[in-house]
Amino acid sequence: MSGSLEAFRGEVRDWLAANLTDELREVSAKSTSVFVDKQHTLKWQAILHKRGWVAPTWPAQYGGTGWSEAERHVFSSECALAGAPPLAPMGLRMVAPVIMQYGSPEQKAWYLPRILSGEDYWCQGYSEPGSGSDLASLSLKAERDGDHYILNGSKIWTTHAHFANKMFCLVRTSREGRPQQGITFLLLDMDLPGITVRPIHSIADDHDFNQVFFEDVRVPVSGRLGEEDQGWGVAKYLLEFERAVAHSAGLKAALSVVIAHAGALADGEGGAEINAPSIRRKISILAAQITAIEASEDVVMAQVARGLNPGPAASMLKIQGTETAQKVQELAVELAGDYAAVSQIAARQPGSNETPVGSDIALTAVPRYFNGRAASIYGGSNEIQRGIISKLVLGL
Ligand SMILES: Cc1cc2nc3c(=O)[nH]c(=O)nc-3n(C[C@H](O)[C@H](O)[C@H](O)COP(=O)(O)OP(=O)(O)OC[C@H]3O[C@@H](n4cnc5c(N)ncnc54)[C@H](O)[C@@H]3O)c2cc1C
Repeated sequence: MSGSLEAFRGEVRDWLAANLTDELREVSAKSTSVFVDKQHTLKWQAILHKRGWVAPTWPAQYGGTGWSEAERHVFSSECALAGAPPLAPMGLRMVAPVIMQYGSPEQKAWYLPRILSGEDYWCQGYSEPGSGSDLASLSLKAERDGDHYILNGSKIWTTHAHFANKMFCLVRTSREGRPQQGITFLLLDMDLPGITVRPIHSIADDHDFNQVFFEDVRVPVSGRLGEEDQGWGVAKYLLEFERAVAHSAGLKAALSVVIAHAGALADGEGGAEINAPSIRRKISILAAQITAIEASEDVVMAQVARGLNPGPAASMLKIQGTETAQKVQELAVELAGDYAAVSQIAARQPGSNETPVGSDIALTAVPRYFNGRAASIYGGSNEIQRGIISKLVLGL
């Protein structure tokens, strides 16, 4: 590694040591879901924003850092190792690149700075009851009435809709031709009259997603991104960014936690669990898989940084990243042993003075395992990603 990159790593490390608060480290260490809550996400975002480091993958002209791929990689690795909480991706990583590509100058000038600052918190209105993998069958109706669309229908599995003040969503503006042809991409305010958000609680006892109902909701036409009935291309462009996530830094950090626990756990025969051949083998395989993912990510993220869209490689990354994360989570449950069965919701709350039962890993292993199952479903299930690879890469 070059000297200047090492100097950059030192700068990031020092800055994290000085600015990543104990509260945020605890929130991150105890979080068991895909995201941390809005309050803590935004606290961390504000700190990063002040430093100008909130959007490493954005072009510098819109407020990105202007870092090289290697610098971005150093930054995300150091954040993961320091235990920084993740930022919510719906604004920064999902809708922002789409606004940059398809937005009018006015839309770019209005939305992008508000995404950077965290002033706007977004949710994604794609899925509907009956339209998940087969997204083009969506039916939330938008009828044109002068300068407005009138929306009726519902969206489901809408992550953080209960926190968001904005939604990007797909609506049906026409039933002519192929289903993909009559879809329009809209940006809307969540406080419009006629919108109702109902919670859905997960098996891990978290409230992350919701069903959102629309009853005669009037959305200004100025909130449309791209042309009427041409939203399918916009939607697919966004999905590539949703799937092209850098997993390796988080995976390495998660595996290092598991390794530390395996080293500290007694095996009942005078040694530590980490010496058990089956555990060593699992850790070695996971470490090799993570290194391979890191190499693929470098290629894809360099592409994104050059303004290219990730293409079908995003599907490959999504499969590899999510399935390896699930294997790390399975190993954590195995190490937690019988204590994995204990529900420890109170002890998991940041600031709690409840003493956790069992080893530290038992506190989070099971809810992380349950929430981790969702990763191979959302953003387009891994079966759908395999379908994309077989068609676009293998030509089958
Ligand atoms: C935690 C979580 C958060 C989410 N957040 C959001 C959000 O914020 N916004 C949003 O819009 N959506 C969100 N979703 C919804 C998500 O995108 C859908 O669940 C996903 O696209 C799958 O759709 P479905 O649930 O309708 O399942 P279905 O499409 O009914 O699929 C059921 C099963 O059939 C398989 N299958 C379906 N079609 C095919 C095929 N052609 N080939 C092979 N296998 C197939 C699937 O892989 C899956 O195993 C979220 C989901 C989860 C779990």
